[in-house]
Amino acid sequence: MKDRPFDFLEITQRQFGRIADQLGLEPAVRDLLRQPLREYHFSIPVRMSDGEVLIFRGTRIQHNDARGPTKGGIRFHPMQTVDNIRALAMLMTWKCAVVDLPLGGSMGGVACDPHDLSVLEQERLCRGWVRQIARDVGPEWDVPGPDLMTNTQHMLWMLDEYETIHGARRPGFITGKPVGLGGSLGRNEATGYGVMIAVREALKDLGMDPAATMASVQGFGNVAQHAIELYERMGGKVVCVSCWDQEDRTTYAYRKSEGIDLADLRSITNHFGEIDRREAESKGYERLPGGAWIEQDVDILVPAALENQISGENVAKISRRVKIIAEGANGPTTPEADASLSERGILVIPDLLANAGGFICSYFEQVQGNMNYYWPLEEVLGKVDVHVTDAYLAVSKVARTGKMDLRDAAYVIAVSRVAEACHERGWV
Ligand code: NAD
Repeated sequence: MKDRPFDFLEITQRQFGRIADQLGLEPAVRDLLRQPLREYHFSIPVRMSDGEVLIFRGTRIQHNDARGPTKGGIRFHPMQTVDNIRALAMLMTWKCAVVDLPLGGSMGGVACDPHDLSVLEQERLCRGWVRQIARDVGPEWDVPGPDLMTNTQHMLWMLDEYETIHGARRPGFITGKPVGLGGSLGRNEATGYGVMIAVREALKDLGMDPAATMASVQGFGNVAQHAIELYERMGGKVVCVSCWDQEDRTTYAYRKSEGIDLADLRSITNHFGEIDRREAESKGYERLPGGAWIEQDVDILVPAALENQISGENVAKISRRVKIIAEGANGPTTPEADASLSERGILVIPDLLANAGGFICSYFEQVQGNMNYYWPLEEVLGKVDVHVTDAYLAVSKVARTGKMDLRDAAYVIAVSRVAEACHERGWV
């Protein structure tokens, strides 16, 4: 089976088109939702440390706000294209709608490589981005957050600039702030926990006891580690994880048939999620080529590293024992692989549901910021559980009644909620 060349916007629009056909959306609604509502493209002059002024290109794209203010990341990336940002903004609209958050989707960024910028230049760029877009974003209109190569510090500079322009403290303007300065407890855990909350519900659907299951995970970063933490608490056993190895510039999978020791493995992992290969071997882990994570004889696979990892090329290597694939990463399965998994009856929990915990928690950060009242960890994680569980149950019900897979069911729910909001507002 051959995968089509990867064109993110085309894939996103193709997916939307299929669901629009199934729902019989009218041409005007389809036209409205296929493209962003608003796009801002602007130039940001930044004085560099040597005195020269460079002009950076900034973007903010607001896909749809019929259900509430838009929300989406800001990425700093040299290869960033406007089409990618368009696709990501549209995906954010569906993501918010499927878990029933009162938000729409947006995305933005700057074409740049922050590695090439000094700290001062990065600060000027962040403040410059806000100055160009300050009238068209805000807590009640469009709420940015971190994404590729943007971090807590970038968010704080942007918040500070926004508040200076508006003459008020508005912590709900941006998410991804540190705890104590408007951030939410639970953000670190939320995405990984959300993955396993969805798996817990899927196992119930399949009548399987988590304590009698095994899993293999691609990645050992934030999402993977927290997913494993909750899964182990549910009684499950992880036998294999894979990650990038910077020294060898390749990926390895680490396997222990009696189950990995999460705390021990974390102690030999750097903050990029890369496991020290020598230490792992000395602790009795079998080191395999990176792709081996997908071939393990387990019940659950969790891709939690990158997009495009389960493709026409490796889908046939998935063991007959596998019942569930939970997409911790965004877009880890190509459409060709998806079709094959569906034929084999493997339950794929799609990214927009499986990794929703993180942006649900970002929404909570926004809500807490707007109230200037912050919740304890248990409350945040409890609310994440309720949201992910409710969303899983709704998606699973539509999948059962409509005889479709969970991905299509999630899109059906998301697109119909947004289309309905556009109707109710009298837009179309
Ligand atoms: P991270 O940077 O903390 O960890 C990434 C992990 O993937 C690391 O262990 C790294 O070694 C590994 N990796 C990189 N390339 C690999 C490869 N080719 N094969 C195997 N492993 C590889 O990232 P994260 O925050 O855990 O995010 C993981 C994925 O989840 C990304 O796709 C991200 O977009 C998505 N995601 C993250 C969040 C979040 O809240 N962190 C939310 C939604 C989606």
